[in-house]
Amino acid sequence: MTDKITIAVSKGRIYDETIPLLAKLGIVLKDDPKKSRKLILDTNQSNIKVTIIRATDVPTYVEHGAAELGIAGKDVLMEYSGDSLYEPLNLGIAKCRMMLAGLKDAKPIIDRPRVVTKYINITRNYFADRGQQVEIIKLYGSMELGPVLGLSDWIVDLVDTGNTLKANGLITLDHIADISSRLVVNKAAMKMKNKLLKPIINQLADIVENSES
Ligand code: AMP
Repeated sequence: MTDKITIAVSKGRIYDETIPLLAKLGIVLKDDPKKSRKLILDTNQSNIKVTIIRATDVPTYVEHGAAELGIAGKDVLMEYSGDSLYEPLNLGIAKCRMMLAGLKDAKPIIDRPRVVTKYINITRNYFADRGQQVEIIKLYGSMELGPVLGLSDWIVDLVDTGNTLKANGLITLDHIADISSRLVVNKAAMKMKNKLLKPIINQLADIVENSES
């Protein structure tokens, strides 16, 4: 259907910061996702629906056209290997940094450094650019524990306030990338549903610009 739009939004802090943005666009959820079990939520605009999903799934849904628009962190987009997404707008929300970190009181590393991360591609590219050989170990959560329990020398993870690193005796070693949430658009929908999508993208761009100035 050419008159319907589904917006896929990453769960968690991106969702929390997206809702006020959507409200400024005049898009308001009818159900509270924290109370409802529905996976696709109606909005006050009958042709616009919102689905709140795992951050790493957002690019997949948008690339395949199951959602026309998506809101995902740059970390997820950098890690994603697909290439058929438009990324027209930096929304400037859920800002943080992708960092390399290690123990404050680390012993000298004698072998190939081991790095835990859930960002395998970002980590591989980062060390390849530096010509440094490392062993990358995939974890799905609590990266900070890796060096503390001796699983790894370093971690690559998102850092916001730095409190989690500090609480676990870790310090930042290098800044890999600035991260914030981006609007992504399905390429076919950009052509087929341009009349619907263009005003949303333009209005969002204005909102972001005004909130920065
Ligand atoms: P902080 O203690 O404020 O530096 O936050 C660090 C913890 O929050 C780490 O476990 C990160 O993986 C996670 N984190 C920080 N920023 C973000 C973000 N924008 N999106 C998702 N997770 C984040």
